[in-house]
Amino acid sequence: MKYCCTRNSSERVTAAQAIAQGISADGGLFVPESLPVYTYDDLTALSLSSYTERAAKILSDFLPEFTAEELFECAQAAYASEKFSGDSPAPLTLQQNGNRNMYVLELWHGPTCAFKDMALQMLPHLLTRSLQKTGDNRTAVILVATSGDTGKAALEGFRDVPGTKILVFYPENGVSEMQKRQMQVKEGQNVSVCAIQGNFDDAQTGVKRIFTDPTVKAELQKRGMMFSSANSINWGRLLPQIVYYFSAYCDLMRTGEMDHPGEKINIVVPTGNFGNILAAFYAKQMGLPVNRLICASNENNVLTDFLRTGVYDRNRPFHTTISPSMDILVSSNLERLLFHLTDGDSARVAGWMKSLNDTGRYEVDGETLAKLRDLFWAGCCNDQATKKTIREMFQVENYLCDPHTAVAVHVYQQYTETTGDLSTPTVVVSTASPYKFAPSVLEAVSGQVSACDDFARVEELSALTGAPVPQPILSLRGKPVRFTQSCAKEQMAQTVLSLLV
Ligand SMILES: *Cc1c(COP(=O)(O)O)cnc(C)c1O
Repeated sequence: MKYCCTRNSSERVTAAQAIAQGISADGGLFVPESLPVYTYDDLTALSLSSYTERAAKILSDFLPEFTAEELFECAQAAYASEKFSGDSPAPLTLQQNGNRNMYVLELWHGPTCAFKDMALQMLPHLLTRSLQKTGDNRTAVILVATSGDTGKAALEGFRDVPGTKILVFYPENGVSEMQKRQMQVKEGQNVSVCAIQGNFDDAQTGVKRIFTDPTVKAELQKRGMMFSSANSINWGRLLPQIVYYFSAYCDLMRTGEMDHPGEKINIVVPTGNFGNILAAFYAKQMGLPVNRLICASNENNVLTDFLRTGVYDRNRPFHTTISPSMDILVSSNLERLLFHLTDGDSARVAGWMKSLNDTGRYEVDGETLAKLRDLFWAGCCNDQATKKTIREMFQVENYLCDPHTAVAVHVYQQYTETTGDLSTPTVVVSTASPYKFAPSVLEAVSGQVSACDDFARVEELSALTGAPVPQPILSLRGKPVRFTQSCAKEQMAQTVLSLLV
């Protein structure tokens, strides 16, 4: 299987090249030129295997240059029990309220307590092997723009990985205190972290620009280095995310929750950069029985409008919310979806992306809009509704959820109220541990804001709710803060070069 580029469908690269490079030279993204399709029998076989085996099987269908044994080793290392606590890296829990049929897929049992670990524990294995396969012996410089969780997860995945260096940019005032703390403590010899004076979109735009800046690239080449990406623009980041959708379905099959073979499920995803929900779209295209993909946004609701009207318009206020990992107005992975929905019409996609770049807006044609509306249902909610949902989930179901997950739960409620669909089993994706956002969760549950520090709030929340605090959060306490550098958004390229000595 080869990969093609969303802005130039005649360009073809191997899987290893797509992962090593991260993004195409013209700024487009790599997508598989075809997809494997699984039958009901395949799903049955998968349902009998472990998460690691499921991951190895699905990855091997996308990565022809890798052997099955090699991918099994990668999966074993990525999802080892030292990394992910509990029986499964991606457990499914039932939350029954009245006659609805809701399951929560918890993706935050990894080392940084957010779903990014599911992919970023795997990516370094895929990337270092891809570099070997492409015969590239330059040092890979992983440039990351983060809205909060990717940064720490990438630092954790890549620290002290030979042949790599990692550089993370995060918005100075756009992440939670706990997220900031996670990134600022120094672990690993090959890592650097820098705040930027701007928001996530500024960080992401800056990083994308550096990737394609010929001067910076030439300078790196001189130093024996090359750029790669750990953001979801990298195919190696998206691919491991497809696995947990299959895994959730297989768990439902195995535990006898499905009424009949091939029964369809809804999947609700709290969305920012459109990576996680795009992985669910791929799963659906690969034969996973999915009814609706439900896209949940916070007050930065550019996707809600887009999926309803076909107009993508980022010319609107940027809101800083209590679900900061979704504070995004330019969702990179939409480009991949549009490529697939237009049957690979890269000229049309490139045109929309150019318009987005020039005017901040584009509008898709009626046929594409019809496809979007058929696949997706979209909703959004503000901070107040998010907090109300956290409180209700705790009071009614004794389940403590983080603000991102609460946005998804809330939008699922909107969906059931609007469509009347209570009968389709629904998987709500839970993307972070509530303790990563202890101040807002505590306020939502107790109705009060306490003035003490973050760790005291974690303890208070735990005492109040009885929900266990993940070890990675506990062990952050007392670690020395090392990275306090910040730069203007215009200075990102210089900062990169000065950090890479
Ligand atoms: C990154 C992140 C999201 C958004 O995921 P996308 O793939 O960017 O859409 C949602 N919740 C949390 C906690 C995250 O870290």
